[in-house]
Amino acid sequence: MKFISLGSGSSGNCYLLQSGETSIMLDAGISMRLLKKYLKDFDISLENDVAAVFVTHDHADHIKSVGSIACEYGKTIYATRLVHEGIACNRCLKITVPANCMAYLEKGTTVEVGNFRITSFDVPHDSHDCVGYVVEADGVRFCLITDVGHVTDTIREQVGLANYLVLESNHDVNMLLMGKYSPYLKERISGDEGHLNNEQAAMLLAEYATPQLRHVWLCHLSEENNHPVLARKTAEAVLRQHGIIPGVDFGLDVLKRKSPSEFYTLS
Ligand SMILES: [Zn+2]
Ligand SMILES: [Zn+2]
Repeated sequence: MKFISLGSGSSGNCYLLQSGETSIMLDAGISMRLLKKYLKDFDISLENDVAAVFVTHDHADHIKSVGSIACEYGKTIYATRLVHEGIACNRCLKITVPANCMAYLEKGTTVEVGNFRITSFDVPHDSHDCVGYVVEADGVRFCLITDVGHVTDTIREQVGLANYLVLESNHDVNMLLMGKYSPYLKERISGDEGHLNNEQAAMLLAEYATPQLRHVWLCHLSEENNHPVLARKTAEAVLRQHGIIPGVDFGLDVLKRKSPSEFYTLS
């Protein structure tokens, strides 16, 4: 399996997994212009190589291009019924997903696309609905957990089972507290249905990562209330306190907000 992040954070989230001849996309929250450019740079054809898009939830930074991908390319957009309803009434979307391109996901039920086996699970967040994804192919278990208000038993279990993990590390609590966001927004972000902070992500990893975890990418960093160095240092410090050495026990990277990652091979 191979993995690329094409963007991560409030300006747009989009991840791509490739196995054999098939690619799938997890979220399509960047513009079509950028999506086409980045895919071309990686020599991937949206038309011929990407089989489907799996959506976590109906916030604009995750769905910006799903309508165009469905309408222009006829790709299937997988989401829960509630997320599809949220997409349909999202005013940020100029083009909505036509009914013949909608596929409804049931949490806990596995969908097969090419070599991929994709299973969604519940994630608490203030959208119509929100899911994380487990994607299995080539003997590898990849897990995406983003836009997480608080850590649940399901999330702990998925961290414990992952070989490769993309995990939200949205904000630093003090930066959010001291920053210029309104009290309402601060409460929303740090609330039970908002976003995971650096310490929460680090503790989740420290307590539930197993020796089968090979690499973690911290994702969805806030531009205003976080910094890549701070997110990494917080994770490293908490992990070391728990006897885990990043770079030795498992790899640790921070995904860039506005540019693609390298093309990682997951084996
Ligand atoms: Zn988001
Ligand atoms: Zn969100």
